[in-house]
Amino acid sequence: MSAETVKVIVRCRPMNEKETSENYEGIVNVLPKCGAIEILTPTKPQTSREFTFDCVYDSTSNQKALYDESFKPLVDSVLQGYNGTIFAYGQTGTGKTYTMEGVAKDPDKQGVIPRSFEHIFNHIAQSHDRQYLVRASYLEIYKEQIRDLVSKDPKKRLELKENSDTGVFVKDLSSFVCKSVVEIEHVMNVGNVNRSTGATNMNEHSSRSHAIFMITVESCDVGQSEENHIVVGKLNLVDLAGSERQTKTGASGDRLKEASKINLSLSALGNVISALVDGKNGHVPYRDSKLTRLLQDSLGGNSRTVMVANIGPASYNYEETLTTLRYASRAKHIRNKPQINEDPKDALLRSFQQEIARLKASLINKKTKPKKKGEGGLHDVSKSSDEWADDTEAELEQERKDILNNSSLIAEERDQLLKTLQNKQEELRNKRENQEQLASRIEALESKLLTGHIGVTSENGTIEDVTKKQQQTLEAHRQEIIERERQEREIRQKLESQDEEVIDFKENFSSLQQEIDYKTRKLRKMYARWQSVRQEMSDLGDEFNRQRRELEETQEVLMKELRLKQLIVSHFVPPEFRRQITSRLRYEEDEEKWMLSSATEMPLLPRSCASKFELRPTSDFEKLARSTEDSSSFGRFKCENIFMLSLDIPQRTTKEYEGPEISPTLQAALTQALQCQSHAMEVQSSKYKPVDIHSFLKSACRRKMQLIQRPRSRNSAKFNNSPSHKRYPQGHAPDGTITAAPYPKSRGLVPK
Ligand code: ADP
Ligand code: MG
Repeated sequence: MSAETVKVIVRCRPMNEKETSENYEGIVNVLPKCGAIEILTPTKPQTSREFTFDCVYDSTSNQKALYDESFKPLVDSVLQGYNGTIFAYGQTGTGKTYTMEGVAKDPDKQGVIPRSFEHIFNHIAQSHDRQYLVRASYLEIYKEQIRDLVSKDPKKRLELKENSDTGVFVKDLSSFVCKSVVEIEHVMNVGNVNRSTGATNMNEHSSRSHAIFMITVESCDVGQSEENHIVVGKLNLVDLAGSERQTKTGASGDRLKEASKINLSLSALGNVISALVDGKNGHVPYRDSKLTRLLQDSLGGNSRTVMVANIGPASYNYEETLTTLRYASRAKHIRNKPQINEDPKDALLRSFQQEIARLKASLINKKTKPKKKGEGGLHDVSKSSDEWADDTEAELEQERKDILNNSSLIAEERDQLLKTLQNKQEELRNKRENQEQLASRIEALESKLLTGHIGVTSENGTIEDVTKKQQQTLEAHRQEIIERERQEREIRQKLESQDEEVIDFKENFSSLQQEIDYKTRKLRKMYARWQSVRQEMSDLGDEFNRQRRELEETQEVLMKELRLKQLIVSHFVPPEFRRQITSRLRYEEDEEKWMLSSATEMPLLPRSCASKFELRPTSDFEKLARSTEDSSSFGRFKCENIFMLSLDIPQRTTKEYEGPEISPTLQAALTQALQCQSHAMEVQSSKYKPVDIHSFLKSACRRKMQLIQRPRSRNSAKFNNSPSHKRYPQGHAPDGTITAAPYPKSRGLVPK
């Protein structure tokens, strides 16, 4: 097993609109020929730092060239059965998603992921005598939780598991068998819709999660050999969330929490890289984050890995760009041990092949059925199942006709025979349906297994074959050129690094002047190197301080939030409940989170022994308050009977009828009249006609009723003497106001 290093490429995006409008200076020089990036220090324009990588791309680089040069070889090796990982790392808004996904509707700007789809399916279409099975899954790690982006419930968190055969894997992650570019693109599009994004000051559609698109390609030879070895290559396409600073992205609230988790997992990634490169204590902290656990094979394990470090050119991102370049420069030294994965236990292709063979065998079994009882012969297998079924059906139909035409049969016998025949026909129909189902299942399974050309191709094939061959040759030439360029870059880099060492060997000088010149040059070089090391040290110190400051700031904000929550808990949750809840809390290792166990699992709290007769602890004040009449009406001091059982009486809106007030004179007249009511009465006056006392009383009462309908004072008698309450005819005062009408004066009723 040969070890190889992680391939690191750097891509610098063009200045964006904001940077151009604000006239930021470009501080990044990309030197593609040497594979180097030079970054100028904005505060000291003369000083610069240089980093070398496997390949570097400037702002004019195009997606196709990037793919062909840096990613195609990796995808090719996945098709051969190696594991491969491509991951994009960098500050928010530097083009990670652009590199990985690109612009969906613009074919020229398609990123690595869609290009790899085309590459894989083209390769399969052009392959010979090989069967392939392609599966795709899409997940994201959001706030340290794994989510399946293509499942029905994308918010559901999944667990990471590990087993000795397959290593680390995500339990219950859905995977889709894809037969074409369209199908696999559909998986990607569905996942992208579900991906967590959010706007920050640095990028309007900043990816807030690490997204991993996984493609598994299983393949095996078909045809001659009995033993078909299956090889399985897994391709992980990782678009990391941006490394970011809280101050620049303006993150707060949920964004801040996301950012702290993003930064946590990225620093865990950085620690894994450092541990792999330094290799001092042998421990690699893969378990510090979900991301590093999932990428365990890609970093220092069984995988070929390409890391794309994305940077921006503007001066205000100097620190982040420098950090990314340092990060990438370290990753160059990670050594992986890729190997072809042969015949893994969980190969789906094998189970598909076995299932197809089983179904085919049972289909043949169904066809090869004894023809007739007693004949013992087998059904002619050269006939198709449809032909066989048609024949049998025709035979049964003929038999039916014979029975119907046979006049020697009695009715009962005929019915019996017809029934048996009908059963046979039914059975045949069921069998036919079963066979059809089996055949369609075989067809469905076979359609999932992709094959290119089967059989030997002729030397002088069709025009299509010839064109394909030419394309392949062209591609091979292109790859050769790319490889040569890479070698050239490598040699250049080696020459540069050897330059200083070579000088040390030239110790023989012909003259003093020559020695002076040589040593002056050497001194200059050494001085420059010393300067750069000193600069590096100061940069690292600055970066360390900055990171610490940022972590402290984030910690402070999070602490503030925690203190607020603690304050709420201590002031609003009674201590007994708090204790109870705390005792119910337990930490789930697998899920890596605190869980609250069910209340029924917990022992009940013992009843307070303050008083045997009380259901709950009762203070003296409460007892006192409960005994007083006033407070007993409040629920607060009630013990178990907190309900008020008395009825709520509605407010009265009517009042008792009060009869009309009768003046004493009238009352006297009435009393008198009632004493002698049986006698008719006459008024003793010659002027008046004799009247009936009943009709008189009736009219008197009516008048009285009219009077009491008008407003009047209860003490009218008292005011009647005042000048303002003079009597006016018909109750009307000269100023128009209505006054109380005078009662009729008793004129002395005399019995007849
Ligand atoms: P990231 O994923 O790193 O946060 P994006 O990929 O979303 O950043 O890129 C941010 C913006 O920059 C997008 O509008 C994208 O189109 C643009 N961009 C990034 N890299 C390039 C590039 N190489 N060429 C042109 N535009 C780019
Ligand atoms: Mg992004």
